[in-house]
Amino acid sequence: MHNLLHNLNEEQLAAVTLPAQSALILAGAGSGKTRVLTTRIAWLIQTGQVSPSGILAVTFTNKASKEMLTRLSAMLPINTRGMWVGTFHGLCNRLLRTHHRDAALPQTFQILDSQDQLSAIKRLLKAQNVDDEKFPPKDIMYFINNAKDSGLRADKIDPYNADERKKVELYQLYDDQCQREGVVDFAELLLRTYELLSRNQPLREHYQQRFQHILVDEFQDTNDLQYKWLKLISGQGTQSQSALFAVGDDDQSIYAFRGANVGNMSAFEREFHVKNLIKLEQNYRSHGHILDAANVLIANNSKRLGKNLRTDAGHGEQVRVYEANSDLSEAAWIIEETKNLIHDGASRSEIAVLYRSNAQSRVIEHALFSAGIPYHVYGGLRYFQRAEVKHAIAYLQLMDNPHNDSAFLRVVNFPARGIGVRSIETLQAAADQYRISLYAAVPHVTGKAGTLLGGFVKLIEGTRFETQQMALPELVRVVLEQSTLLTHYATEKEGADRIENLEQMVSAATQFVSEEGYGQGAPAHLGPQAQAASGAAVINEDGFEILDADAPLSTVMSPLSAFLSHASLEAGDNQATIGQEAVQMMTVHSAKGLEFNNVFITGLEEGLFPHESSSREHDGVEEERRLMYVAITRARQRLYLSFAQTRMLHGQTRYNMKSRFFDELPEDALKWLTPKVQPNWFGARKSAWDEAPLVGSDNALAQKMIANKAIGAGAGWRLGQSVAHAKFGEGVIVNIEGSGNNARAQINFGAAGMKVLDLSIAKLEKL
Ligand code: ATP
Ligand code: MG
Repeated sequence: MHNLLHNLNEEQLAAVTLPAQSALILAGAGSGKTRVLTTRIAWLIQTGQVSPSGILAVTFTNKASKEMLTRLSAMLPINTRGMWVGTFHGLCNRLLRTHHRDAALPQTFQILDSQDQLSAIKRLLKAQNVDDEKFPPKDIMYFINNAKDSGLRADKIDPYNADERKKVELYQLYDDQCQREGVVDFAELLLRTYELLSRNQPLREHYQQRFQHILVDEFQDTNDLQYKWLKLISGQGTQSQSALFAVGDDDQSIYAFRGANVGNMSAFEREFHVKNLIKLEQNYRSHGHILDAANVLIANNSKRLGKNLRTDAGHGEQVRVYEANSDLSEAAWIIEETKNLIHDGASRSEIAVLYRSNAQSRVIEHALFSAGIPYHVYGGLRYFQRAEVKHAIAYLQLMDNPHNDSAFLRVVNFPARGIGVRSIETLQAAADQYRISLYAAVPHVTGKAGTLLGGFVKLIEGTRFETQQMALPELVRVVLEQSTLLTHYATEKEGADRIENLEQMVSAATQFVSEEGYGQGAPAHLGPQAQAASGAAVINEDGFEILDADAPLSTVMSPLSAFLSHASLEAGDNQATIGQEAVQMMTVHSAKGLEFNNVFITGLEEGLFPHESSSREHDGVEEERRLMYVAITRARQRLYLSFAQTRMLHGQTRYNMKSRFFDELPEDALKWLTPKVQPNWFGARKSAWDEAPLVGSDNALAQKMIANKAIGAGAGWRLGQSVAHAKFGEGVIVNIEGSGNNARAQINFGAAGMKVLDLSIAKLEKL
């Protein structure tokens, strides 16, 4: 028997082998939390404490769940295919497919990723003649998702003013629209499952009894609804409460902006009467100096559950710090260091360049490209988010559910078929009148528009008929051809890449069917009869349909439905998938849970990291500091930090001070490659600043700005910046002159006129 336990330290061992009670493993980065969680599953199964079907494991990304299954099958001689290991979204998708009737959804319901959701909302606003200046679609989307994440339906919200009432009304209309089209967004997956389980007692009890062990990774980033969902499915407070094993790190809670609530950790301790609280303090990832930097930095946060990290790895190299004149020279320095690393034998995929926001990547990408160093950027558009791929997916969605209006609108005139805006308006009016989908409304449109639309319906019906018996990869290929997407892109000047992406979908489908356990020849459309015949569904004593305990996903979804869910869910993942032999570029958020031998953290400037939006939010700077902690702890051996005095972002040159985080890092752990900024260094380094009318990089000014809350948390001033002044009202910075304490800005206050103000004295608020 494989000895699962011999590679664990004492605390890890204690955690892996805890009795079947609720437990919280609270531990810092790189201390083996994920490893402990995986090993515990293997151990529980190996020792016969639970069968694979009694486990429910929640991971943070789809990729992490795949990895967990791979590790499990390496540790245990079992087939992991039917196991319930996945993200919250993935697991809910599976539950809703299985019980789609109880959940009032068509079996072929489709999942909207956030891009689809936004366009569905835009469409609704248009249909309702809503002023999208007053109610921007993104705000409505935020409102809806927020409500759903808190478990609130529209009829449960008590609007406090007219605007809010309008939003609630739109929320309701949006939900109606989704229901009509048979689509669900990400938040809906969760809420629908939650409602299903709360309302349906036999179903709830079935799952409560089934899942004896529930294990959750990255628990600090669960939101309120996810936590409620866990309480429900674990039977919290009932006789048969299952053992909930949560691992997390309060210092790595970085999704508050998406509703994550780190308070769930203490709520969990309290409500599940957690007696087993284990801290893991041995770090296996990073060298000493890197770990010191992380520990000392995070100690500046006030709200912490308290823990530390130590390592046996030795100090290793110091953290290198570089100050660049500009973003361009920062990039040039990264290239130099990267070349050195590669020269010394580092693998490119072990070099990561991290940044706070995607907009920063362009300059570095360009430099890597010019230097001929292969790189890969994550967090930009993922495969399933690219326009051409989304078009192909829309055709596939129409094969499965032609009433998905988003899919319909995406491709009804793409490639162009002469169906114009007016025709669509007529069609929309008919659909509204009869309260049916656009597809169903086509016969109600007459004239030339009717003929063209009818042609499109024929194309969809014809392709569906043609592909009836085909396996998924073949179906994909035929749809690519029949839709004329391939020929369309063949005529485009830059279409070659797109065609390649489209053709890749056939391989993706081939890989998908084999990974999910469908036979290679299994028909992509699996009718409900075929499914019933597959024997998956059984009626239990309570008279409702449940599935054979170990039924894999393949028995509740046709290959096509499963592939489409996979595409949507994967488009929603927010973590990089490493693999290529290339320098890895990503945002700090996407780097969560990953590790690399060499890490660059770039753009460490006030306003950028910590991000300027953080000064407005409650707990904002602390969340940024946690983000910095996540960034630092990705590094195993070498860590590089850099910042630039000037940076072009969103078309504007910004003059920034170095990040406050530098003052929070231990001196001993750092090695400054450029002279460390002196308190009054403007004179000393005159040349760099000669022509540049700069403010904000002077330390004295910095201190003042930080002290003076009204100026904002010390972020740099830039041309075009909107500001507010107590007397003059709102204005825009038009020019900046002088430096340090002498810095002045010319500001256009509109009605109050143009003023020149001393930046170190005027109480200006950034807007
Ligand atoms: P994060 O907070 O970043 O998610 P984590 O706590 O989940 O980190 P893991 O990713 O599980 O940490 O482990 C970090 C690294 O340390 C991994 O490479 C893992 O294989 C290694 N590791 C963990 N425990 C041990 C151990 N007992 N002996 C040797 N290596 C270990
Ligand atoms: Mg982890």
